[in-house]
Amino acid sequence: MSKLTSKVALVIGAGSGIGRAIADLYQTEGATVALADLNEKACTKTVRGDSSSYSVDVTSSDSVQALVAAVIKRYGRIDILVNSAGILNECPFLEMTPETFDNMLTVNLRGIFLTCRYVAPHMVERKAGRIINIASQLALKGGVGMAHYTAAKAGVIGLTRTMALELAPHNVLPNVIAPGPIMTPMLGDVSDDWVKEKEAALPLGRFGTVAEIAPTAVMLAASPDGDLYLGQTLGPNSGDVM
Ligand code: NAP
Repeated sequence: MSKLTSKVALVIGAGSGIGRAIADLYQTEGATVALADLNEKACTKTVRGDSSSYSVDVTSSDSVQALVAAVIKRYGRIDILVNSAGILNECPFLEMTPETFDNMLTVNLRGIFLTCRYVAPHMVERKAGRIINIASQLALKGGVGMAHYTAAKAGVIGLTRTMALELAPHNVLPNVIAPGPIMTPMLGDVSDDWVKEKEAALPLGRFGTVAEIAPTAVMLAASPDGDLYLGQTLGPNSGDVM
């Protein structure tokens, strides 16, 4: 028996990396998925059956509202929202401009606020929903050159905990997945030596793969698997943070 049969999921950031793997596994588990990304084309290869692809820019309130309206119009509901869109760049704190900081917060934190803000009312109305926000283990431990990124990701955890408190009475369950390092396009062109050095610092001795993150997103969305998870931060992170 598939775990997400007859569920409708909206996966944002589904064009690449972790979001794409989640959208793919959700469909394997029987869900119909609305796959959304800045670049809709990047989503199309992953679309199967009645699933569909959309373009969205999570920095734009209008764009997010249009996406949510289109998905509700097509499927009548959203049972599961996954927020995996994000950006990463490095900058030493002492060189960071307000613009660099704002840009990171706008995509990685405000973007998740917007998608949750426009999807949650539909879930509340139906008295059912799961929200899965992708943060990072760096939110919990910090990272050199990552003041803006870690601030945004820690913000995602705080935002999700408060949403959990306010939405739980409506049977809407928000949680966070905070992965460790995963080889995706987000990491860019890193050298083998860089990877070896980072892997050596992990208790498990290796990076994770997107296929090892997606099952956590299935678990949180499924019932009874995820029924008791609320406001939690789950850490598939090779033991980087315990
Ligand atoms: P990825 O492969 O780069 O995927 C991120 C996706 O988000 C891309 O398709 C990107 O589109 C999209 N995106 C960026 N800005 C957007 C916007 N304004 N509106 C809509 N979509 C936008 O990266 P990933 O590694 O899968 O990352 C997914 C999530 O996991 C991110 O939140 C990331 O911070 C988090 N994470 C990643 C790691 C890791 O090591 N990879 C570790 C911990 C947490 P474009 O490519 O077209 O820009």
